[in-house]
Amino acid sequence: MTRNEELFARAQKTIPGGVNSPVRAFRSVGGTPRFFTRGEGAHVWDADGRKYIDYVGSWGPLILGHADPDVVAAVQQAAARGLSFGAPTEAEIELAELLVELVPSLDMVRLVSSGTEATMSAIRLARGFTGRDKIIKFEGCYHGHADSLLVKAGSGALTFGNPSSDGVPADVARETLVLDYNAPHALARAFHEHGRDIACVIVEPVAGNMNLVAPRQDFLEAMRKLCDQHGAVLIFDEVMTGFRVGLGSAQGLYGIKPDLSTFGKIVGGGMPLGAFGGRRDIMGKVAPLGPVYQAGTLSGNPLSVAAGLATLRKIRVPGFHEALAAKTRALVDGLQQAARHRGVTFAAQAVGGMFGLYFAPQAPTTYAEVMTADKEAFNRFFHAMLDQGVYLAPSAFEAGFVSAVHGDADLAATIAAAEAVFADLAK
Ligand SMILES: *Cc1c(COP(=O)(O)O)cnc(C)c1O
Repeated sequence: MTRNEELFARAQKTIPGGVNSPVRAFRSVGGTPRFFTRGEGAHVWDADGRKYIDYVGSWGPLILGHADPDVVAAVQQAAARGLSFGAPTEAEIELAELLVELVPSLDMVRLVSSGTEATMSAIRLARGFTGRDKIIKFEGCYHGHADSLLVKAGSGALTFGNPSSDGVPADVARETLVLDYNAPHALARAFHEHGRDIACVIVEPVAGNMNLVAPRQDFLEAMRKLCDQHGAVLIFDEVMTGFRVGLGSAQGLYGIKPDLSTFGKIVGGGMPLGAFGGRRDIMGKVAPLGPVYQAGTLSGNPLSVAAGLATLRKIRVPGFHEALAAKTRALVDGLQQAARHRGVTFAAQAVGGMFGLYFAPQAPTTYAEVMTADKEAFNRFFHAMLDQGVYLAPSAFEAGFVSAVHGDADLAATIAAAEAVFADLAK
């Protein structure tokens, strides 16, 4: 038994599935999850002492790589001054001010401890602000694990949804309408039929939880227009895309101004932190200013705030995101070329510092297209890459992430490994 296998067997006795978040269990790809002991820069080491080039980056937060010295120092300094106060600190204002400066749609923000908390709170706020109960989300988008958002499409095109998890009341799911991503006409029809009841539309402005699906510009534009026409709140869930696809996030990249936005991942620099914010008139409804209740014992935690501030300050230098995007593009171009060279059906695309890999003739634009990709080929590719020392997300339905410290040598090694794997797959 390897040390990873030993740890996994032991973990399963006291932790459901041996993991504290399901996709970590490797259920989709099979095999034994790697238990990590250390990360530095673009690399991680597992319990058997093997080194990997990491394209997961803790699922997005680690835009500066593992254990960035400035982020670690900021956290250490904050820790030495006290772990938590449950009272305001000056650093929280600095983070709020920085977020408001970097993302023009934000007049005010509230800090929370996870992306789930941010989206859950934003939905409650949209409902409280509009006095309406129904919400719209899109199939394949993930917004955390709050009840209203663990919902899949009902049987008809415009029926309200069904729970996608046991334990979610059917009555809660019925308040959520689930539509196709990148389908502006379906959205227009939904507003035509239900417009007066719809509190908000929540969307991943670049979908990164069904592999990577880039938005059609007219889809985002239709969303903005329909929300305005019908008095609904437009929520961009930028938990993944925030500060990842550009300094102004996806809303900056596509030039659409949402009413509310949610953040997580990069905003906490690898520590538990989320945020929601937006229009002043809407944020004015949040307690204690207004009647929409929202609270958290560890909200604005000093260590998380320190990590977030140190990260955001470091990535706001001119050219940072251009360089990250160029690097990510070089990776996907190289992978595509290697696949073509070996005659493997494969496509890849990048948006800023995130990327998608598809065992399909071209990058998908809809959830249905994502589902037609060759999952078995991905699973074989995943394990073969892991054997070659490249750690990709252990599922065909996740986006990948490049950090600022992935070097040319890392990219070249990844492409060379992929070329060898593609050659095997083609046999
Ligand atoms: C990761 C993610 C969430 C959930 O954030 P957690 O911190 O895991 O609760 C919500 N929305 C999107 C778009 C995400 O990628």
